[in-house]
Amino acid sequence: MAESWEKIAIGATDRVFVLTGAGISAESGLATFRGAGGLWEGHRVEEVASPYAWQRDPEMVWRFYSMRRKAASAAAPNAAHYALAELEGVLGERLFLCTQNVDNLHERSGSRRVLHMHGELFQSRCDHCGGEAFADTRLYETAAEHARCDCGGRIRPDIVWFGEVPYHMERISAELEQCTVMLVVGTSGVVQPAASFVRWARQRGAGSAVVRSYYVGPEHPANAGDFTQVFEGKAGEVLPQILATDGE
Ligand code: NAD
Ligand code: ZN
Repeated sequence: MAESWEKIAIGATDRVFVLTGAGISAESGLATFRGAGGLWEGHRVEEVASPYAWQRDPEMVWRFYSMRRKAASAAAPNAAHYALAELEGVLGERLFLCTQNVDNLHERSGSRRVLHMHGELFQSRCDHCGGEAFADTRLYETAAEHARCDCGGRIRPDIVWFGEVPYHMERISAELEQCTVMLVVGTSGVVQPAASFVRWARQRGAGSAVVRSYYVGPEHPANAGDFTQVFEGKAGEVLPQILATDGE
C-alpha cells in the first residue's frame, strides 16, 4: 500500500539547489516547530529562540538548546538524509545543499558540503565581541554552568534566532542564480527569507533555463503555488524514490 513516486529528471548539465527544513529530521525523531505541539515547556519557540529571550532569560534559552543537543546526539540520520548524500556523490559540485536545520544529520549521513543558514547546534560563540564560533557539545542546564568569553561576554548558541540575519546569504543568492532544479524538503514555507528562495530562483534573469521546482512533505507548504510539483509524503519515503541513483 506504500505509494510510489516517479523519479525526477536530473540531466548532465543541471545544477540542483536543495533546501531542507525541520521536516527532513522529523523521521529521525527531532521535533519540528510548527508540527504538533510546536511548544517547549509551554513557551512559543519565539520565546526561547530570540535575542529578546536571551536578554531576559539566558538560563531558559540554554536549557532549551541543551535539550536539543541531547536529542540530536541521540538521533540518527534517516533515508532522506542518505538519499541526498548519495545524490551529492553523483552530482558533486552540481549539488548545493542549504539547510535551515541546526542539527548535524546531513553531515552524519555523509553529505560533505552542507551550508547551515541558521547556524549549528554544536557550535557556540560570544554574544559580545564577535569572536569566532567554536565546536561545543557541552550542556548548560543551570546558570552556574554558563561560560564567559575572555572579553566578559556570555557564550551563546551559534544559532540564527528570530529577528537575526541568516548566514551565507551571498553564497545562497549566487547558487539561486545558477540552479536549474530546486528541491525543497520539509519546510513550512513561512520562515523568511528561505520561503522566498524558490520564487527568487524562478524569477532570475531572462534567457536562463526554466527552473523546475519540487516540494517534498506531508502537507502543502504556504508557498505551494511556487512549485512545479508537490510530492505529498514523508521525506524518508519520497526522496529515495524520486532521487534513485541506481538502475538508470
Ligand atoms: P517548521 O517546523 O516550521 O515546519 C516543519 C515542516 O516539516 C512542516 O511543513 C511539516 O509539514 C513538514 N514535515 C513534517 N514531517 C515531515 C516528514 N516526515 N517529511 C517531510 N516533511 C515533514 O520547520 P521550518 O520550516 O524548517 O522552520 C522552522 C525553523 O526552525 C527553521 O529554521 C528550522 O530549521 C528550525 N528547526 C530546526 C530543527 C532541526 O535542526 N532539526 C528542528 C526544529 C526547527
Ligand atoms: Zn567575547
